[in-house]
Amino acid sequence: MIELKNISKLYDLGEVKVNALKDVNLKINRGEYVAIMGPSGSGKSTLMHILGILDSVSGGQYLLEDYDITSLPDKEQARIRNKHFGFIFQSFNLFPELSALENVMLPMSYAGISYRNRRSRAQELLEEVGLGHRMYHLPTMMSGGEQQRVAIARSLSNDPDLILADEPTGNLPSDKGEEIMVMLEKLNNKGVTVVMVTHNPEQGDRARRKISIRDGALFSDELIAQGI
Ligand code: ADP
Ligand code: ADP
Repeated sequence: MIELKNISKLYDLGEVKVNALKDVNLKINRGEYVAIMGPSGSGKSTLMHILGILDSVSGGQYLLEDYDITSLPDKEQARIRNKHFGFIFQSFNLFPELSALENVMLPMSYAGISYRNRRSRAQELLEEVGLGHRMYHLPTMMSGGEQQRVAIARSLSNDPDLILADEPTGNLPSDKGEEIMVMLEKLNNKGVTVVMVTHNPEQGDRARRKISIRDGALFSDELIAQGI
């Protein structure tokens, strides 16, 4: 599905230059469930931004379904991103002035879906994540776990092939984090590819594949045998 070839990322701050990623080679196949682990500052978020085409690379190639998208114009990259990817962040990143329903509807407006269809799809997704009774709540009126479930509903609004989750349970108490993990696992079982950054070793072991990154380079990449 995705292949990164010799990817590097340099943050050029004038006098200071940070090699956030150095010659990273990584293939992610359709249907995988990948955990990305590593110390703070090792390049996990940078890698997620590159995978999500949210940020440009300094060197190397990004292939999506064998098609080189590295040098496509921003507008074309945005189209690919909106069509194929869903994002979940540690801090939820909901629009505070929009209701749960409006937050979930928003990404669909870029896809040219009618208001009526956006609304019914958003309702359906909120019901799926157990928030049918919170449609008109603003994010500030919801708990962290509820906000993250809204974010999951939003990430699913365009039927993504890939979900990129950067520490999705990092700001949640463990029981609420567990609910989010179970949702991600269910999505993966339905065929959605999931790539998740986590600091939690137990969550890392629940993925099917665990990649560690150190100092901007891949350090290990292992498949995890799942108990039956
Ligand atoms: P981001 O990936 O969002 O740029 P970091 O990966 O640096 O941020 O850290 C995300 C959060 O995880 C921070 O609140 C940080 O304090 C915490 N954190 C960072 N490293 C560890 C670690 N090794 N173990 C547990 N928590 C960590
Ligand atoms: P992690 O997510 O593992 O904590 P990051 O990808 O956030 O790591 O950061 C990797 C390195 O790149 C760190 O040294 C960080 O300080 C640096 N970095 C990240 N984002 C920027 C940026 N926008 N500008 C400059 N340096 C950055």
